[in-house]
Amino acid sequence: MTVLLLAHADLDGSLPRAALEALSAARVLSGGKPVAVGLFGADTAKAAAALGSAGRVLSVQGTAFGPARYGSDAAAATALVKASGAEVVVAPATSRLARVAAGVAHRLGGRVDTHVTAVTADGGASVTRWYYRQRIEARLRRAQRPWLLLVDPGAFPPAQPGGGAIPAVEQLAVEATPGEQRTTVQGLRAPASGEQTIRPDANVLFVAGAGWTKKQADGQLHVEEAGRLILGMLRASGASLGTSKSLTDQAGEGQKVLDFMSHLNQVGQTGATPRHPKGLATCCHGEEPHVVGWRFIRERRAVNLDPNCGWARGKADVLYVADAYKVVGTLTELLKK
Ligand SMILES: Cc1cc2nc3c(=O)[nH]c(=O)nc-3n(C[C@H](O)[C@H](O)[C@H](O)COP(=O)(O)OP(=O)(O)OC[C@H]3O[C@@H](n4cnc5c(N)ncnc54)[C@H](O)[C@@H]3O)c2cc1C
Repeated sequence: MTVLLLAHADLDGSLPRAALEALSAARVLSGGKPVAVGLFGADTAKAAAALGSAGRVLSVQGTAFGPARYGSDAAAATALVKASGAEVVVAPATSRLARVAAGVAHRLGGRVDTHVTAVTADGGASVTRWYYRQRIEARLRRAQRPWLLLVDPGAFPPAQPGGGAIPAVEQLAVEATPGEQRTTVQGLRAPASGEQTIRPDANVLFVAGAGWTKKQADGQLHVEEAGRLILGMLRASGASLGTSKSLTDQAGEGQKVLDFMSHLNQVGQTGATPRHPKGLATCCHGEEPHVVGWRFIRERRAVNLDPNCGWARGKADVLYVADAYKVVGTLTELLKK
């Protein structure tokens, strides 16, 4: 079975971290044989070098393939899969590849599966993914080829680049047609809050729950201080920010809110299920609909004033019964040092 790692170079030419994770999955499926690599971007040399030694390395490069754009990305990916003759194609679920994978599978008469969290090479290939808000885990096989697999970031450890000589890169002569270049990228606009708080690659998920906006021991609200403490913690630690539904919903109900928090930060049954090695919940009760979103957080800790909160009931590895205002302030000072 020929297995292809399909990836793109980022704007600065580097390989996205998630591509090395996808390479780990591809190596499992190839059963120890070298994995073929297909890269596209403005210039793929740096990304190819980052992979080290590999099987065949194919590339589609040129200025037309620099920006993320459906037409040119799909054309490049289709050409790479075709030229490799791969039966199974493993790609990282970056926003760029997630957008084109289904179209590429369709153009090739193949199939695509997304949100892949595990793979096995038993008798061909099978993959694991979750359904119904991470409640049902299924293992899938498919007869159709090529089979494109989008691997969720954080599900596999990043592969160590292969040692030895870096193979020569085979450049494919692919021209993006005028139609494929119709969309032009004019610039990047940051979220309105000006602060990027969702960081899928972060080692730690930092959850701020509704307790931050509740009256504290002195009978007063301290929302501004909460905002300062939470953002200070995020800047010092590089953590990704999650929240509970209660805190997210307050914005819609006209209450005093943390303006950098949106529904995109919500973790749980009706929110996201992020993947980070560690998580720290603060001022969050740890109710089941929230904690189901922690399914893939391997080490869990929580800070809550209430020793009977949900985290104490087997949902956290460690619960610190303490005032999060004090803990987070002190922790941030220590991190800054
Ligand atoms: C169908 C359905 C779907 C839902 N989906 C989700 C979902 O996707 N995600 C989600 O999060 N929730 C979801 N919920 C809501 C969920 O059940 C809880 O209501 C919500 O998670 C509670 O949020 P919280 O823990 O932040 O707030 P609260 O329950 O208000 O808890 C606040 C906590 O802060 C603590 N606290 C206060 N001050 C301090 C301090 N100074 N230091 C330390 N601790 C302090 C308090 O002791 C308390 O435990 C859903 C509910 C339903 C019915």
